[in-house]
Amino acid sequence: MSRFVVEGVWAAPGRVNVIGEHTDYNNGFVLPIAIPHTARAFVGRRTDGRLRLASSHAGSESVDLAVADLTPGALSGWTAYPAGVVWAMRAAGYEIGGADIRIDSDVPVGAGLSSSAALSCAVALAFDDLYELGLDRIELARIAQRVETDFVGVPVGMLDQMASLGCVEGHAYFLDCRDLTGTHVPFDCAGAALRLLVVDTRARHALVDGGYAERRASCEEAAALLGVPSLREVADPDAALAALPDGPLRRRVRHVLTENERVLRVVEALRNGDVRSIGPELTASHASMRDDYTISCPELDTAVDSALAEGALGARLVGGGFGGSAIALVDEARCEAVTAAVEKAFAARSFTPPRFFQAVPSAGARREG
Ligand code: ADP
Ligand code: MG
Repeated sequence: MSRFVVEGVWAAPGRVNVIGEHTDYNNGFVLPIAIPHTARAFVGRRTDGRLRLASSHAGSESVDLAVADLTPGALSGWTAYPAGVVWAMRAAGYEIGGADIRIDSDVPVGAGLSSSAALSCAVALAFDDLYELGLDRIELARIAQRVETDFVGVPVGMLDQMASLGCVEGHAYFLDCRDLTGTHVPFDCAGAALRLLVVDTRARHALVDGGYAERRASCEEAAALLGVPSLREVADPDAALAALPDGPLRRRVRHVLTENERVLRVVEALRNGDVRSIGPELTASHASMRDDYTISCPELDTAVDSALAEGALGARLVGGGFGGSAIALVDEARCEAVTAAVEKAFAARSFTPPRFFQAVPSAGARREG
């Protein structure tokens, strides 16, 4: 391929959700932070209607196709994300033409840190700037969401996109997914001599996509049974749970209802500057996902249990589940011991060695050049 046209560089980060898992598509509460890991999109417009895509990620093939040929499901693999942005913007009525897009991302792929939304959000921001569309962050997040729901075909909520586009440094983003209003809550681990450790288990279980869609369908079924538009509108959680038949559906609803309450308690604690006290809420969130929502797996449970046994203040799986990453809130002084304990527990079970990151609340999407 001839040299790519570059008019600018746009960056969008991955995210870690502090708490509020599988609540976004139930119109509930989430509390993500952006992480330093970032996708960068080098974008230039073309006048020939061609879309040329390349990624520095190992094993990513480049493609060259006509913008006019973009249809949902036509592309599989990574190119569906940047191409999907062009498609989604055109579907929304914006006249986006050809472009060269080169992606350079250090967001771990498929680790539950939202490499996919980082990609889509960086590209969406690029087109918003280049075509002077003047879209706000919510409109951009909706476009990036449609890339996943309509173009790629995964029924995700708005958490990842809103986090990547809306987070600010040093803060967690308390977001109400019912109306997408949010506030930035100070989240100062370092000030409390704590670290938020990310453990990428490197497990990717086949259930990821099907399991996600199935959980989402269960929630919609339960809401219909309860006669509410979404589980967010449940007025009396105890009465709602009693009204559902004893079984998996009731337990799934219990996860969503109790998770929303946990988010509110964590936000309250952070507003009071009490980062330490959120630990037990994280651990309770994990138990709820393991036992009620049944989306954990042996690797995630091992990461959480071994971190807690070594003195982590709290730990839980993050993201969709069935693999990916866990987080642990750890005293700075215990960080090395916790890391070593998790590594040892993985080795004892012959799991692939995990990778560790530190999640520092970082800036959301922006133009970089
Ligand atoms: P997550 O968003 O948690 O990382 P997803 O399954 O939603 O996991 O998205 C992962 C997909 O995103 C990858 O399979 C790949 O298609 C795409 N992707 C993300 N980052 C890159 C990149 N830097 N280069 C190529 N593809 C990428
Ligand atoms: Mg994703």
